[in-house]
Amino acid sequence: ISVTDLVEESYKRIEEVDEEVQAFITLNKEAAKQKAAELDQERGNADAKLFGLPIGVKDNIVTKGLRTTAGSQFLSNFEEPLYDATVVNKLNDAKSVTIGKLNMDEFAMGSSNENSSYAAARNPWNTDYVPGGSSGGSAVAVAAGEVPYSLGSDTGGSIRQPAAYCGVVGLKPTYGRVSRFGLIAFASSLDQIGPITRNVEDNAFLLETIAGHDKMDSTSANVEVPKYTESLTGDVKGLKIAVPKEYLAEGVSTEVKEAVQAALKEYEKMGATWEEVSLPHSKYALSTYYLLSSSEASANLARFDGVRYGKRAEDAETMLDMFKRSRAEGFGDEVKRRIMLGTFALSSGYYDAYYKKAQQVRTLIKNDFEKVFEDYDVIIGPTTPTPAFKVGDKVDDPMTMYANDILTIPVNLAGVPGISIPCGFSGDGLPIGLQIIGKHFDEGTVYRAAHAFE
Ligand code: GLN
Repeated sequence: ISVTDLVEESYKRIEEVDEEVQAFITLNKEAAKQKAAELDQERGNADAKLFGLPIGVKDNIVTKGLRTTAGSQFLSNFEEPLYDATVVNKLNDAKSVTIGKLNMDEFAMGSSNENSSYAAARNPWNTDYVPGGSSGGSAVAVAAGEVPYSLGSDTGGSIRQPAAYCGVVGLKPTYGRVSRFGLIAFASSLDQIGPITRNVEDNAFLLETIAGHDKMDSTSANVEVPKYTESLTGDVKGLKIAVPKEYLAEGVSTEVKEAVQAALKEYEKMGATWEEVSLPHSKYALSTYYLLSSSEASANLARFDGVRYGKRAEDAETMLDMFKRSRAEGFGDEVKRRIMLGTFALSSGYYDAYYKKAQQVRTLIKNDFEKVFEDYDVIIGPTTPTPAFKVGDKVDDPMTMYANDILTIPVNLAGVPGISIPCGFSGDGLPIGLQIIGKHFDEGTVYRAAHAFE
């Protein structure tokens, strides 16, 4: 099969289904076809890991010459970015073909894709349901067969939660594993880019390609990238699994609990052992996350002022008027809500009570994980308390929307890696996700455990 055929196939599928599932915000059709033709001339070369493979990229990852909106109207006219994100450079070096930019909640704030300022993506298993967010488009595109590989970003669950809802594999790497250069920042101390794929092997392969130290991102770690695909041995004999009791507590649906318990039985059969543990500070994770992430967002989004990027309000009378109106017109409600919360939490007089306190609690949450990892190899639980919910069900109630992230958020606060893999279906035929969490920079063991179950 030629690269041209592969790329054509991808666009054909997009034409068939994307009107219904809305995975893409922008397609890269002409450039992709031209690149495919060039690659066909060149033929495969052994060094190019992803030769000719079609890939979708979340729309908060900057792509040179290809519109990058971050799901926001503010950047709807950001048609020609001047550079590629480091991960995109790495994809290009591996000779994959970028098919287009994937739908997302505006600036990655959301859990359902309903905060996209473009048409919200839908769950391909049942389009009455949300696909999850914020990397909804990235999960949908893979689940609906539009592309085999995609990239998402995960600040509080945005790769793992949509992967769970759409029945695909999504990994949030260790903080610092993958360069954030060229990722439009939401909360810089939590954001990580990661792969979404149909199976664990593809996922490990894609992480190998995008991971590594980058001098353009001072928070990227100078830690060697192992060959993750070599850890897929199928052997989990002796693996020590911790199951936090807080992750199977009230609020987690019976169907989800049963699917996780069935998975644990499988692990037992394969020779692994599991025990119940406690992550006692889990109950503070949600409030800690929303304080810290909104504070960081308020600072990061200050750059959208109508001067440097994207939209500028017309007919402004003064400069202040221009700032105000550009931001009022360009940002959606959820983004404004977070900026207000974050600005408040950082303001003098409140800083110690909120931001500083949240930082201290974050350390306690991180310590909980480290303590468990002294005795266990991985932590296993559900990715989300329930399967996908219906479009419109939570959109008017931010607090229940936020509560949805309760099982994914602690992982970002601790900076450890976590994957979601499919582990069954609900009575309504919607996928259920199993979350496997590992030690810092131990994606290898996470992949090994995930692969053995798959
Ligand atoms: N749903 C969470 C939020 O709205 C997480 C988003 C993310 O990981 N980008 O903040």
